[in-house]
This record gives sequence, structure tokens and C-alpha cells, in this order.
Amino acid sequence: MNKYKGVIHVHSIFSDGSGDIQTITKAAKRAGIKWLIITDHNNTDIEEGIINGVCAIKGEEISPEKQNHYLALGIEKPITGNNPDEFIYQVKEAGGFGFIAHPDEGIERKNSSEAIKWTADDSNADGIEIWNWFSQWADNYNDKNIFTVIWSYFFAHNKIKKPYAVTLSRWDRLNNNTRKIIPAIAGVDAHALKISKYIIPVTVFSYNKMFKTLANVIYTEEPLKGSFEKQKNIILNALRNGNNVILNRKVFDKIPVIEIENKKEKVYAGQSIELDENTYLNIKLHKISQIKVLLDGREIWMLKAGECSLKITKSGKYRVEIAIKDNGWIYTNPIQVYEVKFFERNN
Ligand SMILES: [Zn+2]
Ligand SMILES: [Zn+2]
Repeated sequence: MNKYKGVIHVHSIFSDGSGDIQTITKAAKRAGIKWLIITDHNNTDIEEGIINGVCAIKGEEISPEKQNHYLALGIEKPITGNNPDEFIYQVKEAGGFGFIAHPDEGIERKNSSEAIKWTADDSNADGIEIWNWFSQWADNYNDKNIFTVIWSYFFAHNKIKKPYAVTLSRWDRLNNNTRKIIPAIAGVDAHALKISKYIIPVTVFSYNKMFKTLANVIYTEEPLKGSFEKQKNIILNALRNGNNVILNRKVFDKIPVIEIENKKEKVYAGQSIELDENTYLNIKLHKISQIKVLLDGREIWMLKAGECSLKITKSGKYRVEIAIKDNGWIYTNPIQVYEVKFFERNN
């Protein structure tokens, strides 16, 4: 399996970001990112292609006025509107798919700005952004005095420890209500805001800084090579199927091994495998970490280890969360373990 680090949820000059495609892809290259997805508000005008060695793909952040932002991928033209049921349907009709953006923004908000939550039905969405770096920062900073603002800027990652529990429960509920896998992603929500009211204009949360926070590591059979269209397809298919894990690079910028194997094969995030008498969840990390394994959203194992092989005897969706000193490091998409009934096997 090939593994490639990418970032999702980036704003450019075509909405409220400050960078053009050159600035964004150069920053991504410097941050060690192979691919990225630019999602401007209600706009898809950004150029896409393999630019500065980075596979830059355009999507859109469908942004109704007050609530219900939705990251739409695999679409050519912008889709807009205020009714989530309608635009989710239009994205599917156009051959695309999407992720609910920052659904529980504001849950811990300490400042005066208004939060943008998901207030509509979430059951038709294809996927969910379970962690949004900038949104969580904005929830946590306190705008009452300039020193706390500066402090929260420079020590931002101290505040952004893990996805909101309420968002993880939302994701588990969506997965428990269907047989298919509802994939999750992490978004950076990078804008590289330019503030010019001071003597020297400053850029806060530059693209480069943001691209070193939350990444999505995709697992692909095929290597990312060849034409842009080919690479774009590989990346979008991986995200559509949930063949990715979320990596918090601020905690530890390494990709561990997390797989389920049986007598015949090995599978990764977003895939499925038949339960047999030799089915194991294998985890290999670079250092001892806190490992939490969930089956259909319920915690079934909690251990501190650097390596483990856990015997699986029940079918369902397995996902893994890994933390180091209580800082969320890895969140995998579920792996589906299924049972083939005796009569099916014999027919
Ligand atoms: Zn948004
Ligand atoms: Zn955004």
C-alpha cells in the first residue's frame, strides 16, 4: 500500500483566503504535502493541476449564509443554496461527494464571534469533517485582551488537542445507521489572513504553518504517478471510500501501521474483510502511545503500547484512536469486519 499525506479545506483569493495557487502549492511543498484540496466559499475558480510538485485539486465549501457548511469534492461547477438536503443531493447528482464541515463549531466558544454549526439533518451527507483546526482555534481563543490573543496564536496547538467528543459521537451514529462506511476527514481551514492595520502588515496562520497541523494520509493501491486527472481520481476515490487516516503532525509526524488481517489478506482504513478464526487488528507505532479501539462506536479496548495484535471475534466497524500524552495523534476511518453465514458459504 502507498501512503500520501495531504491537506483538505483551504481557502484562496477566490474567497476569503490570501493566497493564489502558486503561493498555496509552494507552501504545501515546503510542508511536505503531496496533495491538497482547495475549497473556496461558493466558488470553484481556482486553477488545478500538478503545480510546484503538488497535486492541487479544487472542491468547494458550499456556504449558506448562517449555518450548514459542506465541503463538496469531485464537482466541476459551484453548487450553492441554503437548503442542505437540496445541495447534498445536487453534489451527488453531479457525480461528487461531500463532507459536513465543522458541524459542532462553537461548542466551546469563548469569544464573541458567531459559530457556524450544522443544524440540518446529517444523515444524507457522504462524510464528515471530524476535526477542523482553524475552527477549533477560533472556538478556543479569548478575544477579551490582546495578550491572550497573542498567547493563543503562538501556542495554538496546546489548545487543539483532539476532535470534539460530540463530533466523534455524531460520526459513530452516522456509521451505526448504515452498512456502508461514512468516511471522516480533518480540515485545516487555512486562510493565511493578512492583517494590514498595523505598521507592518502581518499574515496570521500562514499556509505553511497550517499545512503542518492536521493531515489526511490516504492509502492507495496505485502509486500517485502520471497525469493530473489520474492522480486526482486516485485521491478522490480514496477519500470517497474512507481510505485515509487523520494525522496530527503537531504531535508526531509519523504514519503508523494499523491494519486488520485474516488468513487470506490484510486491509486498511475504509476497507472490509471477512471474519475468520485468525482475524487480528495489528498496530505498530513508533513509540508507546494510548490506543483506543472502538467497535461500532463503543470503546472495546484501551491500552498503552507501542505494538499490539488484538484478536477479533466479532463483526462490525472497527476504528482506532491513538494519543500521546492526551494529545490526539491518529484517527482512522473504520474497517468493516463481516461474517459470511454458514449457509451462504455452502451455496
Ligand atoms: Zn466553513
Ligand atoms: Zn472554510
